[in-house]
Amino acid sequence: MLARVITGLPLPAGSSSWLDYYVKNSGAGTVLLYCAVCGCPEPPAEAVPMEDANGARFAVPLCQRHAGSRDWLELYEFEQIAALK
Ligand SMILES: [Zn+2]
Repeated sequence: MLARVITGLPLPAGSSSWLDYYVKNSGAGTVLLYCAVCGCPEPPAEAVPMEDANGARFAVPLCQRHAGSRDWLELYEFEQIAALK
């Protein structure tokens, strides 16, 4: 799935960080060892809000480099996402 980072989105109420939101809402229970971008070997530095080509919004953990990217990124197909309500 192609998605890109959304900037300037306010943190959802009741969450202390995007990582906190991810852990509570993804169903993953924890954060995986790797960045959600397909093939990226880096550990996740933080969770960030993203949107796909259809405008669906969700949070996933990304490494520092990808969290700062403004390109469309291909996400690992089995990554659990935390949908934004
Ligand atoms: Zn990465």
